[in-house]
Amino acid sequence: MGPGEWGQSRRCWGVRLLSGVGPGPLTCSPSSVQLTLPPGLEMALGPGREYRALQLHLHWGSADRPGSEHKVGGHRFPAEIHVVHLSTAFTKVDEALGRPGGLAVLAAFLQEGPEENSAYEQLLSHLEEIAEKGSQTWVPGLDVSALLPSDLSRYFRYEGSLTTPPCAQGVIWTVFNQTVRLSAKQLHTLSGTLWGPEDTRLQMNFRATQPLNGRIIEVSFPTGAEQTVEPVRLNSCLATGDILALVFGILFAVTSIACLVQMRRQRRHPSGTKGDISYHPAEVIESVA
Ligand SMILES: [Zn+2]
Repeated sequence: MGPGEWGQSRRCWGVRLLSGVGPGPLTCSPSSVQLTLPPGLEMALGPGREYRALQLHLHWGSADRPGSEHKVGGHRFPAEIHVVHLSTAFTKVDEALGRPGGLAVLAAFLQEGPEENSAYEQLLSHLEEIAEKGSQTWVPGLDVSALLPSDLSRYFRYEGSLTTPPCAQGVIWTVFNQTVRLSAKQLHTLSGTLWGPEDTRLQMNFRATQPLNGRIIEVSFPTGAEQTVEPVRLNSCLATGDILALVFGILFAVTSIACLVQMRRQRRHPSGTKGDISYHPAEVIESVA
């Protein structure tokens, strides 16, 4: 199946996402649930910055504790989805590791809503089949774009790194402002179905937050006090105060792509440290749609 067959294209400032995906294996990895994506799902961060999706996975907490990897304004959300992409400039992940923009991750926060999310149900309904660590099942096919927020124009973006070996830098993180709503039952299914190491539930599979320390974060929407603040949408999680708090340096998670840890090459490298991160003077680059 080629890009021309994906059908609907969603074009927004900075992110272009082609919807649709064929069947793929869903795996209970040591650190998450991961759906390996077949070739053909493409994404662009801007002109000439094209990527193809490799896999998606999630991070979550437990029944009573949130588990997103990023925090905004000190707030951690119940869960977070990461869709990992490889630049079309590279043919293999190994080649892209450590290269600026070689890898890109689209991230979205999941939080509780009143209704069942039918797109997520296509994943969650298979979790029982892969409850045991290392097991795998087959997902007939789903629309990956339906797992992300409808509004792709509002996001935070920064260049980070893998915090799992080989600690490669240059990963472009795009964290959407609009959250995705799942029912309480669905969030419970996500956090309470899979088993991890030593017969314990696979829970709290997120990395500890790190200080922002001057990391540059681009914000794709107005955040200044002089800007007219739109009313908070039903499925928008960030109030103005949250955004300002983030701009002025509240903790921001240094996220990981835990799913890449199983790559054999990574075993040859030691664990990563914050020392691998290149810090810059605090600055916010504001871009208006
Ligand atoms: Zn992740």
